[in-house]
Amino acid sequence: MALSPSTTLTPIDQALTQILSGLSPVVGEETVSISAALHRVLAQDIRAPLAVPGYDNSAMDGYAINSRGLNAGAKFPISQRIPAGSVGQPLSADTAARIFTGAPMPSGADAVVMQENCHLEGETVVVEVPVRSGENVRRAGADVQQGELLFNAGHRLRAPDIGMLAGVGLQALTVRRPLRVAVLTTGNELVRPGQTLQAGQIYNSNFYTVSSLLQGLGHEVLDCGIVTDTLQATEQALLEAAQNADCIISSGGVSVGEEDHVRTALNNVGALSFWKLAIKPGKPFAFGTIANKAFFGLPGNPVSAFVNFVLVIRPALARLGGLIEPPTIPWHLPADFEMETTGVRQEYLRVRCLHSANSAPRLQLTGSQSSGVLSSVSHSDGLAIVPANTAVKRGDLLRFLPLSEIVGHS
Ligand code: AMP
Ligand code: MG
Repeated sequence: MALSPSTTLTPIDQALTQILSGLSPVVGEETVSISAALHRVLAQDIRAPLAVPGYDNSAMDGYAINSRGLNAGAKFPISQRIPAGSVGQPLSADTAARIFTGAPMPSGADAVVMQENCHLEGETVVVEVPVRSGENVRRAGADVQQGELLFNAGHRLRAPDIGMLAGVGLQALTVRRPLRVAVLTTGNELVRPGQTLQAGQIYNSNFYTVSSLLQGLGHEVLDCGIVTDTLQATEQALLEAAQNADCIISSGGVSVGEEDHVRTALNNVGALSFWKLAIKPGKPFAFGTIANKAFFGLPGNPVSAFVNFVLVIRPALARLGGLIEPPTIPWHLPADFEMETTGVRQEYLRVRCLHSANSAPRLQLTGSQSSGVLSSVSHSDGLAIVPANTAVKRGDLLRFLPLSEIVGHS
């Protein structure tokens, strides 16, 4: 893969195109019950084995009649009763069938008068309104036609999808196996929550952000622990991770300081296609392969790691996991702030979406935009994009990526 030299900044779209063009699905298939299929990725196209509804049926509680030549005020003796779940007899001429929502239409009837538009005189129903043929009848196949393509392979199943598949009688589905993603965090200063902090130490937050993002996207996490800042430990951790996972994500140690060993280690045990991305935050980022497994090296700063994950790793994992992502919705919302001209990097700002009774939603910064300040991500509704070399004036429309759309399904 031809990549730009490490000194130049690669625009995000170009980097993504290059990364994605080199990736294809790596996970096999398995069969799961539809009860366990939520958020799984279909491995095969799905066609409807039968139509929904399977037969013409009533959309209302009321009276099934033959509407031909009917005038308001017409009277019909009630000849049968058809609740949902049972099948009536052919409708005798000039009679009505008492019918309930979901019950099959009796042959000879072409419409249902809702009970609110009728009254009873003993065993006779009086229809108070004009009735059109087909009124309140749900036609066979109106929802789903037999043989219709319901989903393409690569679709991730959402709750109504599962219901629809159950509705056509499918009990088991062939889906992609989840991706097994190795996550290792580098940094001598890191300890896990639950341990006591010594002087100079911080809690490892990136592992938990990244593993939570992975879980939200339906991937399996392989916790490779905290790796000390030496070349040898980093090389060994990368090799082990590659043996046990479909792809590898590291955090930290990807810059150019003496304590940053990820790029050199990757060069030694795999292949590095490193570039710096023209985005802020999230400039340092390493991509490459170890034993033919994709490797993504996130920077250590928590917000840079988050932004890089959602912009680059999320779509890359989708490709590896066989998921065909629907295009993200291009929201554009007005800024409720001003900002000086950006530099050569496209900026991703943490914003909340402000709603008030009399105006359209507006974007407001959630606080410090420093790459180490994770609280302003946590308090945000999403990221607003400011292109390179652009100033923001109040009211300017900015592209907005809602977190709900970019961090997964749950
Ligand atoms: P690095 O990219 O390793 O130079 O780290 C940049 C900054 O991010 C430093 O302040 C690190 O302490 C911090 N950092 C690195 N890894 C983590 C992590 N897993 N959790 C929280 N902060 C981290
Ligand atoms: Mg470090």
